[in-house]
Amino acid sequence: MILKDIYGRSISYLRVSLTERCNLDCGYCYGGSRNGDDPKRRLSDNTLLKLIKAFSLLGIDKIRYTGGEPLLREKLEDIIKETSKIESIKIIGLTTNGTLLGPRLDAFVRAGLNRLNISLDSLDRATYKKITGKDRLADVLEAIDLAERSQAFGHVKINVVVMRGINDHEIPLFAKWALPRNIDLRFVEFMPSNSPGWGEELFVGEDEIRQKMDLELEPLLINNLNAGPAKIYKHGDYPGRIGFVSAISRSFCARCNRLRLTSRGDLLGCLYDGSSIELGPIVKETGSIDELARMIEYSFREKLYRKSPDINIINGFKPSMREIGG
Ligand code: SAM
Repeated sequence: MILKDIYGRSISYLRVSLTERCNLDCGYCYGGSRNGDDPKRRLSDNTLLKLIKAFSLLGIDKIRYTGGEPLLREKLEDIIKETSKIESIKIIGLTTNGTLLGPRLDAFVRAGLNRLNISLDSLDRATYKKITGKDRLADVLEAIDLAERSQAFGHVKINVVVMRGINDHEIPLFAKWALPRNIDLRFVEFMPSNSPGWGEELFVGEDEIRQKMDLELEPLLINNLNAGPAKIYKHGDYPGRIGFVSAISRSFCARCNRLRLTSRGDLLGCLYDGSSIELGPIVKETGSIDELARMIEYSFREKLYRKSPDINIINGFKPSMREIGG
């Protein structure tokens, strides 16, 4: 069984938000409630793993754990380990703010983690604190050093959300910092969200980011569908690479291969479509993993909820990144 949407796009990638809680207060990310999730409404580890097994029967081979801050989920090492035992899951990634990562990195690698994205919007201590509300830049930089040295992830991905007047002056600094290292630096266009910190005036598009960086970039062709939405470039002979995740100025919807699962068990086909399928009740009603996979496929086909490949997201629904996992 392979999951396909009504536009013929195959789905091979599931992003799973493990918690709505976060230990940072990035104004552009948190929305409505800041109290975090209610464990009673959260999928248990067993239910989550049962769902992932069912998705693996439907052609999903890549799982990314995100949040909130996924390291706040109890027993994350065990969740990763159990995921790695599912034969057809080849890629297990983590998207984290990196503040709590250093001391647990080895355990995650031993459990089977093989992709890592760390979110870092400033290399300057004061600006980092202004954006995140916390003085934790040193911890993040230390975790990045450890991750790079561990060689467990190929290039460590660093995501920088660019915001006008807040961190856009650091674009050349970020490039200079990343190029000599085994880092994939990805400049992410600021996307509309339900957070009070979102504002169109803060948006900086890819063309302007490139102008501010002012470096000759050579496209790298990554022959791998799991490469994701970023377009990756190299500069000279440097090992570090520079990418752009430009959901606004260059839509990549036509290549979208992903679904998103919230910590409550809601399955979303698209960040910018408010509708979802509640999977919690479906798990309760089904016995075997095969049956669960069939039910998921059935609900998916019945529901016309993946946006078309030419969606104009700027005018649409505004998601809670913290709930959905970005
Ligand atoms: N706490 C983890 C972290 O910081 O990576 C995972 C969750 S966070 C919601 C995932 C990613 O979404 C982060 O890289 C964050 O910068 C990004 N993000 C949040 N709000 C965004 C927005 N409005 N536009 C673009 N990216 C956003």
